[in-house]
Amino acid sequence: MATGTFESVAPATGEVLGSFPRSSAADVDGAVAKAKAAFEDWRLVPAPERGNILFRFAELLRAHKDELADLMTREMGKVKAEAGGDVQEAIDMSYYMGGEGRRLFGHTTPSELRDKFMMSVRMPVGVVGAITPWNFPIAIPSWKLTPALVCGNTVVLKPAEDTPLLADRFVQLLEEAGVPDGVVNVVHGYGEEAGDALVRHPDVPVITFTGSRETGIAVTKAAADLLKHVHLELGGKNAIIVMDDADVDLAVNGIVWSAFGTSGQRCTAASRVIVHRSVYHDLQTKLVAAAERLKLGPGWEDETDVGPLINRAALDKVHSYTEIGKDEGAKLLTGGEAAANEGDGGGGFYYRPTVFGDAQPGMRIAQEEIFGPTTALIPVDSFEEAVAAANSVRYGLSSSIFTRDVNRAFRAMRDLQSGITYVNAGTTGAEVHLPFGGTKETGNGHREAGQAALDVFTEWKSIYVDYSGKLQRAQIDNQERPAAR
Ligand code: ADP
Repeated sequence: MATGTFESVAPATGEVLGSFPRSSAADVDGAVAKAKAAFEDWRLVPAPERGNILFRFAELLRAHKDELADLMTREMGKVKAEAGGDVQEAIDMSYYMGGEGRRLFGHTTPSELRDKFMMSVRMPVGVVGAITPWNFPIAIPSWKLTPALVCGNTVVLKPAEDTPLLADRFVQLLEEAGVPDGVVNVVHGYGEEAGDALVRHPDVPVITFTGSRETGIAVTKAAADLLKHVHLELGGKNAIIVMDDADVDLAVNGIVWSAFGTSGQRCTAASRVIVHRSVYHDLQTKLVAAAERLKLGPGWEDETDVGPLINRAALDKVHSYTEIGKDEGAKLLTGGEAAANEGDGGGGFYYRPTVFGDAQPGMRIAQEEIFGPTTALIPVDSFEEAVAAANSVRYGLSSSIFTRDVNRAFRAMRDLQSGITYVNAGTTGAEVHLPFGGTKETGNGHREAGQAALDVFTEWKSIYVDYSGKLQRAQIDNQERPAAR
């Protein structure tokens, strides 16, 4: 049974919001056993009915949107408008996946033989182990659970230890929507305990994981012994390219939103800005001024632009990169220090929006994921140099280019090595009906959202029905055999 408890703490104030069971391997066993038993019936519920439950879930999320957003400002720290967006993404995803209940399209194709029918259908896989991070505490569970459920799988969710309260509310609303007992189960607690036990459990054939690259590698290795299906959504080191013909003011708006929104704690955050030298000075001046206008404070206050970081360790990590950047010779233009809450002078894990200038593509601040409100300006002299710099990192989640030249825009769409590319917008802003995910070390080739998500949560089954009443052999009985004539 649970080996004690852990607390959820508000990053804006340090206030304790609740106490949760620190689940052990035995708790994971229990949750998986319930999910496995529930699978036997859930897989037989008609998919349109499963979809109807998701429609009801979407409606409940809508009804509770303000409450959830408010709780998110407290438990995770993001500002109110962004918290509302996080919940809205879950609403959109639930409607979208609810609709899949009436699609889940397979294929039919003609047979090479007479009187024979062929089709392929999507089958649920079984118990899905879903491991989620804290930065999109309602949206990311919805990306994983709604497709898993509509496809007929059951789930054990291990949410991040920083946002257990939101995860509990998410699951309560799913149950209220009509998800039967045992179909969705939660284990709380630490990654190395509950998370690892879930990844290794023999009755969990699918793991869907969003988190850091390092943990993603550990999860892949732990799942390999049982050849599990592993879906990974890992880090990013996303770049915005600003060309000499760009609308610089628009680019600055895009950079501020993408670099400092959610305090930079998004896997799609723009932590590099690659700027053509002819607009570099203008952009730098405007960006620094914009960063300095941002007001730090608790997410629930209307006038707050930037909330706190999630916890002390995050604050220390972000600051360590400021030191690294300075040591590497980049120029600290603004920020670079922890800050007090400017709303009421209280505590909390605040860090000033930070901009480095004169960075080189190979510097650590331009290569490693910082996951904070820090971005680095990299000057370049050409489009080709900009694309090469953008592609010079191990990650490949999102990218962006600001340009008014349609030829360059299309070349960028083709040549930027990322799963998502924006033209004349920042690096964030995915919608639920296109695939979401990255190339290179951002993942392992799978995608969430859109139709692509269904591939994670189903297996293709190919079915052949012979109604000829005789033995017909594919590849043999349908061949022209000139030699036999
Ligand atoms: P972050 O840097 O976003 O906290 P992590 O990768 O550490 O990213 O955490 C993401 C999720 O993975 C969390 O729910 C965490 O508890 C879980 N986790 C961490 N380590 C492991 C592990 N070894 N096995 C399974 N899950 C883990």
